[in-house]
Amino acid sequence: MATEFDAIIIGTGQAGPSLAGRLTAAGMKVAVIERGRFGGTCVNTGCIPTKAMVASAYAAHMARRAAEYGVTISGSVSVDMKKVKARKDQISGKSNTGVETWLDGMKNCTVYRGHTRFESAREVRVSDETLTAQRVFINVGGRASIPAIPGLDEIPYLTNSGMMEVDFLPAHLVILGGSYIALEFGQMFRRFGSEVTILQRGPRLIEREDEDVSTAVREILENEGVTVHVNVKITRVAKRDGGAMVSADVGGQQQEIIGSHVLAATGRRPNTDDLGLDKAGIEVDNRGYIAVDDQLRTNVAGVWALGDCNGKGAFTHTSYNDFEIVAANLLDNDQRRVSDRITAYALYIDPPLGRAGMTNEQIRKSGRKALVGQRPMTRIGRAVEKGETQGFMRVVVDAETKEILGAAVLGTGGDEAIHSILDVMYAKKPYTLIQRAMHIHPTVSELIPTILGELKELT
Ligand SMILES: Cc1cc2nc3c(=O)[nH]c(=O)nc-3n(C[C@H](O)[C@H](O)[C@H](O)COP(=O)(O)OP(=O)(O)OC[C@H]3O[C@@H](n4cnc5c(N)ncnc54)[C@H](O)[C@@H]3O)c2cc1C
Repeated sequence: MATEFDAIIIGTGQAGPSLAGRLTAAGMKVAVIERGRFGGTCVNTGCIPTKAMVASAYAAHMARRAAEYGVTISGSVSVDMKKVKARKDQISGKSNTGVETWLDGMKNCTVYRGHTRFESAREVRVSDETLTAQRVFINVGGRASIPAIPGLDEIPYLTNSGMMEVDFLPAHLVILGGSYIALEFGQMFRRFGSEVTILQRGPRLIEREDEDVSTAVREILENEGVTVHVNVKITRVAKRDGGAMVSADVGGQQQEIIGSHVLAATGRRPNTDDLGLDKAGIEVDNRGYIAVDDQLRTNVAGVWALGDCNGKGAFTHTSYNDFEIVAANLLDNDQRRVSDRITAYALYIDPPLGRAGMTNEQIRKSGRKALVGQRPMTRIGRAVEKGETQGFMRVVVDAETKEILGAAVLGTGGDEAIHSILDVMYAKKPYTLIQRAMHIHPTVSELIPTILGELKELT
């Protein structure tokens, strides 16, 4: 006999728990099902633990640079990886327990632990129980996508999940991939003291970004001793000297790269292959992402998909925004849409890259007449005072409507400074509004009005 609920939520990522909170508060009887650690990727193997580790790496980096600031550290700087991991575990563990305790104590909410599969559009199975509801919300997230490289499955390679257990210093970390996750781990482990080699298949790192952003990021990493190879075609991976040997064509030259550990950071895939979606008739695209409309409804009435599994975003904030959109439509008679949101994210290397809206490349392709303002961090007082002058800041505006089209702040505080631009984009106000705002001195943001006064044609 199936146990009946008003709503079933599969997965406790960044959308599910908050949605459970809203639905139960609206009087619904809700089942929440989790097969792994509560809080999902962000809490356990993604944002929170990695940013805690980035903070440890930053401390090590600044300690090594202490003399530049007139600070004397007697003796050499070393990193205790067991303590780095313990700190990370404590921060991430608190969030994980917080989500679990919250759901366990939620009125009208029943928590099930175990893997779920659809039996039909209205029924799911968890362990030996069948649950049924008129509304089902899928928030199953994703996992590392492993490239089909001969020999890779014969070595104990790491993924973002495996990296969470590392409490030692890898002598030489070889990273397959050159995007956000690869770069964050790469710089972090270099700062902990590992030799790091990044192997990127394409011609440049973080290929979605403009070429100058990608070049500046590469320089930041190389300045710290990270080895970056681009145009890499890996032909084989094999065990070697207690570690691994990666054989690759690097820009036309055959090379053997020997590392102590290999991290596969070559993209993500949705956790939809073992969910029984076919039994429910729920459509997926050719990469396994659940097809949804602008309100995150699947093709099956009464079934929604939120977060990374719908392919509409790959961030904690996009998943949380998915929750807000679904809740607004279902409970608030507020017709929010996915298409209302503006692209925004950060890359947490140091200094970070904050991004909003379109890249210059996308703006050029759109055919709009645009103006650009740009300034290197060497000409931003706050960056100079902090001794963190790598990177640059750029804003691009529509020459006719004066709306901001895109921005990149690669530099100290870039992950925060981007928000003053993003909020004006959401307000659909002209850039001149920021020009007239009085910003606080000394900050990175205080130069945004200045660069908006120095706009030139985007060529
Ligand atoms: C290394 C790394 C760093 C990142 N850093 C950032 C960052 O700085 N900022 C940012 O915005 N984003 C970051 N992300 C991305 C971010 O973690 C995800 O976008 C975010 O967690 C959204 O996930 P979600 O809500 O889709 O689901 P998830 O958080 O992935 O959770 C899905 C949950 O569903 C459960 N589940 C799956 N299948 C089933 C099933 N069949 N039955 C029951 N339960 C199931 C899983 O166990 C999991 O707990 C990072 C990701 C990684 C890997």
